[in-house]
Amino acid sequence: MHIFWFRRDFRLHDNAGLYNALKEGLPVQAVFVFDRNILDQLDDRFDARVTFIFRQIERLKQELNRMGADLLVRYGHPEEIIPELAYNLKANSVFTNHDYEPYARERDAQMEERLKKVGIAFHTFKDQAIFEKDEVLKDDGKPYTVFTPYSKKWKAKLNADFLKPYPTEKYFQHFHKIPAEKLIQLEEMNFQPSAINFPPDVPDREVIRNYKQQRDFPAIKGTTRLSVHLRFGTISIRELASIGLALSEGYLNELIWRDFYFMIIWHFPHSVDKAFKPAYDQVPWRDSKEDFERWCKGKTGYPIVDAGMRELNSTGFMHNRVRMIVASFLTKHLLIDWRWGEAYFAAKLLDFELSSNVGGWQWAASSGCDAAPYFRVFNPDLQTQKFDPKLEYVRKWVPEFEDFTRYPRPMVDHKFARERVLKAYKEALGS
Ligand code: FAD
Repeated sequence: MHIFWFRRDFRLHDNAGLYNALKEGLPVQAVFVFDRNILDQLDDRFDARVTFIFRQIERLKQELNRMGADLLVRYGHPEEIIPELAYNLKANSVFTNHDYEPYARERDAQMEERLKKVGIAFHTFKDQAIFEKDEVLKDDGKPYTVFTPYSKKWKAKLNADFLKPYPTEKYFQHFHKIPAEKLIQLEEMNFQPSAINFPPDVPDREVIRNYKQQRDFPAIKGTTRLSVHLRFGTISIRELASIGLALSEGYLNELIWRDFYFMIIWHFPHSVDKAFKPAYDQVPWRDSKEDFERWCKGKTGYPIVDAGMRELNSTGFMHNRVRMIVASFLTKHLLIDWRWGEAYFAAKLLDFELSSNVGGWQWAASSGCDAAPYFRVFNPDLQTQKFDPKLEYVRKWVPEFEDFTRYPRPMVDHKFARERVLKAYKEALGS
């Protein structure tokens, strides 16, 4: 018997680790653990990500039940549960897919140790990236820290083999046949179902075809909205990269950014909570809780910023262009630490991905590996004129913005804020 442990790869089709487990020929028992190391840290009992995961787990369970198999679902600490389960089931090996975040790496290293002690092997596979870790390096063997040359090497290395789906269905008969167990309910884990709507998991080819022309306009559906599905692996990166390759280089590039940030977090784990470029940790952030609150609530008096924050608060999503604008506003206009903004996004985004979130925030704060130069301070009004010229996005989320009795004046003057941040960065960086 082998165990396949699902983590962020919630699909039976085109799943690298699952394929490798099934093709061995022994019965394969699928397992998922609601991880208390993660869940206990969530403040919101209605957290939509937990509902999303729960629904995917329900679906996977049903798919397996239809084949006479089951998904064993546990709630607790995986570093205890997985070795114990593997031991009790007399498993030879545990199979799973790679995860590049610092917590996951530590957990997996511990897991391997514990399993080894009881004579069980731990096999892990690349699944959520096209290229990972050391697969795309500079000619001198060092990791890239600039995106454009990385993406060129990435594209040069790509061939059809890297995009081929793993044909798991050839071996579905190897799932371990057992009667279905009852699934633990959200409430038993102290969570409640969220009312947020999740986007469909079907790629819209028209959107991808027109991606380059439409991606920057938050009022239209010019991007795929598949990020939550990529985050949890309900859709395969190989499928999307194949579509991108066929239909839109601009779209493929965004998927390469995702690989880039996975690679960065793997090689530079310090960047999770420290400036990628250490000098930027000298910026004298203003610790203004009051200003931060106004930003969080979408009450800054800058309609495009407020629209973005309100979209985030009510849907768990924010358009990429607007993420850049609100992140620039917090770090540059308000001079508030990018880590505060990163943590707020982490709590709210359905597609929260540590690597891309830290990457996006450090890009905006100019402290990142391939970031906007520090003197680039987005002007929210010009951004609005360019990317929401008819004010459709703004009107949707901030309908009262033209009513001076209900909508606040800008909380900080653009020119003043720009000069303040340039001075602060200049002094901190000594340049
Ligand atoms: P599309 O435009 O359809 O793009 C396709 C896919 O490419 C996305 O689903 C995503 O997986 C990937 N992608 C797109 N843009 C980027 C990017 N800049 N960096 C890395 N991957 C990208 N993305 C996350 O998935 N999780 C996050 O936590 C996250 N935090 C961000 C924070 C900030 C401050 C910024 C500026 C960007 C952040 N992004 C994050 C990147 C990007 O905004 C989202 O991936 C995108 O908005 C998701 O919408 P979509 O699926 O319609 O994307």
